[in-house]
Formats: sequence, structure tokens, C-alpha cells
Amino acid sequence: MPRCAGSKGDGTPCERIVGASRRYCFAHDPAKAEQRSRSASKAGRSKPLKELQEVREQLRSMAQQVLDGAVDRDDAGVASRILAVYLRAVEQERRVRELEDLLPRLAEIERRLDAEDGGRRWG
Ligand SMILES: [Zn+2]
Repeated sequence: MPRCAGSKGDGTPCERIVGASRRYCFAHDPAKAEQRSRSASKAGRSKPLKELQEVREQLRSMAQQVLDGAVDRDDAGVASRILAVYLRAVEQERRVRELEDLLPRLAEIERRLDAEDGGRRWG
């Protein structure tokens, strides 16, 4: 059976079996590169979103517990400050991921513009 013509991260050949009409598996097909980076950035977004939802529910339930007298006000105050710091960290992480996602795309756009103009555009 035909195997993928790509190689793994460590340089050894990819061992995935591919259809008779194909040379590469999904992970190594150059034609699927854009699709792969799209799903990778989608995966990058979903984790912080889930964390934000969890923290939101935690804050809401803590507020209710304070009103019900089930949680000490001081404890709730400290916990909410910690959660606020945590939220900032999640937000920072999201921004870093966004940049990591955008910078290679920007470089690719610049490279294409450069190639179109024969390198004259930037000077
Ligand atoms: Zn492969």
C-alpha cells in the first residue's frame, strides 16, 4: 500500500497510508497547508474561550454565595482578585497566540508583494 511521501518532525519518513491517487497524507499535503493552519488557529482560540466561560460561572456563583451568606466576603474578595489576575493572563495568552498566528501570515503577504514587484516595492 502507498505511504505518504512527507517526513515527520524528526526527519523520519511519514508512515501514514494514503489513497492510490495521493502522494501525501492530510498532515503533509502542501495543498492543505492553509486549511491546517486555519484549524490550528481555531483550536488556539477555543481553549481561552472555555476558560473565560468557566471563570464567569465561578464569579457568578461566588457572588450569589456572598449574597446568601454562604461565603465570607473577605474570602470572596481575595478569590475574585485572583480570578481577575487569571483573566488578564488568559487575555495575554490569547493576544500572544493571535500574534503568533498573524505574524507568519503577514510575512507571507510581504513575501508575495515583494515577489510581484521584483523586490522594488520596499526601496
Ligand atoms: Zn504524512
